[in-house]
Order: sequence, then C-alpha cells, then structure tokens
Amino acid sequence: MTTLPLLSEPRGTARRGLPSRHLADLDLAARRAAVEALGEKAFRANQLSSHYFGRLVNDIGQMTDIPAKVRDRLAAELFPPLLTPARRLATDDGTTQKTLWRLHDGSLVESVLMGYADRATVCISSQAGCGMACPFCATGQAGLTRNLSTAEIVDQVVDAARSAASGSLGGEPTRLSNVVFMGMGEPMANYQRVIDAVRRITDPAPEGLGLSQRHVTVSTVGLVPAMRKLAAEGLQVTLALSLHAPDDELRDELVPVNQRWKVAEVLDAAWEYAARTGRRVSIEYAMIRDMNDQPWRADLLGRLLSGRLAHVNLIPLNPTPGSKWDASPKPVEREFVRRLRAAGVPTTVRDTRGREIDGACGQLAAAEVDE
Ligand code: SAH
Repeated sequence: MTTLPLLSEPRGTARRGLPSRHLADLDLAARRAAVEALGEKAFRANQLSSHYFGRLVNDIGQMTDIPAKVRDRLAAELFPPLLTPARRLATDDGTTQKTLWRLHDGSLVESVLMGYADRATVCISSQAGCGMACPFCATGQAGLTRNLSTAEIVDQVVDAARSAASGSLGGEPTRLSNVVFMGMGEPMANYQRVIDAVRRITDPAPEGLGLSQRHVTVSTVGLVPAMRKLAAEGLQVTLALSLHAPDDELRDELVPVNQRWKVAEVLDAAWEYAARTGRRVSIEYAMIRDMNDQPWRADLLGRLLSGRLAHVNLIPLNPTPGSKWDASPKPVEREFVRRLRAAGVPTTVRDTRGREIDGACGQLAAAEVDE
C-alpha cells in the first residue's frame, strides 16, 4: 500500500533551507531596486545582469567594469554561493555530462547536459529529493528534502550554458538550446519558483538567458490544480505528463498521486493545456516489464490519446538499485509502439543517454524538440 504524497508545503516550512537571495531570484526591476537599497546606482543591476545572464559569468571578480569596492558589496548581497560541483561524470564520448551539485546546506541535486548534432539540452532539478513516491524512481524513494530556490534552478542552466559555450561537449563551442525539468523533484510542487525560473531562462538578455520558451519542457506527475494554473500563465513551454499507465488501478500504484487525481482528470488538465497554448503535450510512459507493457494497455492508451494534441514518449525503464522491476523486452516495446501508431498516436522511444554514469531515475531526458 502506497501512501498519498504530501501535496503542499506545511505552513512555515516554505523557505526552509533555501539560500539567501541571489540576483537570479529577482526580475530586472527587483534587481534595480535591490541595488539601490544597497546604496548603489540602479544601472549596476543591468551590469550585473549582463555579466551573469549575457556572458554567463558568476565570478564577480571578473566584472571589471564595476569598481572593486562596489563589487565586493554587491557580491556579498547578491551572489551567495549556490551550487558547488561535488562530482562531474562524462559518457557517450563526452557528449553526456552529469554534475552532482552540493547546495549551501549540504543537500545534493544533479543536472545532466547532453549534446546532439542539432541542439544541446540540460536536464535540471527543481527540488532536492521528491515527495511523489513513484516506486520505480530512485529520487522518489528518498522523499523530499526541500524545494530549490529560483536561483538554484537557474544557476544549473547558467552552468550548463557556460559549459556548452566553452566547448566541453566535444570541442566545438555549442549554444545551450533546450531545458527539461526532468531531473530530481516535482516541478509543479515548487510551482512559483519554477515559473520564475522559466521566466529567467527565457526572458531576453540581460533580464534572462533568452532561450526559446518552446525549448523548455516542464514534466509533472499530474498535479491537476498546478497544471491548470500553468495553462493560464501565457507561456509556450512544453508540458510533459508522466502517465505510465492508462488505467487507474495500475496508475494508483506507479504514480501514487493518482489516488488524488485520476487518469481522466489528469488528461483533462493536459487537454486544457493543449487547447490554451496550442502546444502538443508529451505523454511520458516508462516501459516496465510485465507491469504496464501489455498490448491491451497500448490499445487503451491509444483510445485515450487518439485525436488529441499529444505524442507519446516511451522511456525504457532504467532499473534502480534494489528494484524488482526491469525494462520491457524490445519486441514487447515494438508491439506497444505499433499499436499506438495504429491508433494514430505519434510515438517515439526516448534514447537512454548516460546509463553508465548512473542515470538513476531514467531522468536523463532527451525530450523531443517539438516545434
Ligand atoms: N517529477 C516529474 C519530473 C522528474 S522525472 C515527473 O515525474 O514527471 C522525469 C521522468 O523520468 C518522468 O517521466 C519519470 O516518471 C521518469 N522516470 C523516473 N524514474 C525512472 C526510471 N527508473 N526509468 C525510466 N524513467 C523514469
């Protein structure tokens, strides 16, 4: 029997463990106000922003157009240490790089940078741990430590962009193009900080990093009220829904939050998102041997999705240590794909980058770029 995960922050714990304010927590107007409150001219905020978001510099010592004394004060107030690399691992000829980050309070999170012929994608974390308790996910087993701040989320992207620009993905400087919220955590359970981070990632420089909203994917277990709120934000990001089962009986077990919001409700919220944004929803489905990979489940999924603005992204299960579950055999996977396509549902199988460096949750997502 799985218990229902905790869905909201207990009163008073919302800021527990968060680092102190960082430039990337604030929009440009708030940065200017913060700099003025520190007794400096507001335009310093624009300079700081151009360095951090435009040139990807976070070492204030390199911001030499700002006088040293001013720099030190601003650094102390607006650049608290956020992420320290605890480990960096590379695989796939260096085109997949995973970083384990230590946060200021010792919590650990990870992000993964993946280089492709036509794009570079970073998979980032929105929480340290996760409270959603999906039994096949490594992060789900340990529970939630805390939410990440907006700046802790954004800084993972800034680091990845700097890394790509420095040529670390196979020699050539590459521009980071895509961001997927498929690392640790449930983005919709850290709603406002995630939305603020999306704005920072997509606002044009120097306010933000200037990535296309269409190249940002937010993945959720299906927190229906938050999905509906997201639909009203006026953003063009891709919504990914981790469905994993087309029937409530199995989904109650695989994605325990289904005990609260059933398959029909969660799909309704997904179709509202598609209708309001015009964006195709990505339905994530981990293929788990003898659990959710039967032909009848493919047919049922096909009936639920047929005619909708959706495509299915099948993820071969990445077995987690100690788990009894394994990936579906390839012929079973192929039959699943065939039945979905026969129902008219666009279906792809995700490539599994970075298994050797412990993808852990299979969250090494190569979300489809879907224009
Ligand atoms: N909490 C969000 C985002 C993080 S997980 C969500 O669940 O959508 C990103 C994707 O990886 C989700 O679809 C998740 O179900 C999937 N995933 C987790 N563990 C996995 C595993 N062991 N193998 C394959 N996919 C996994």
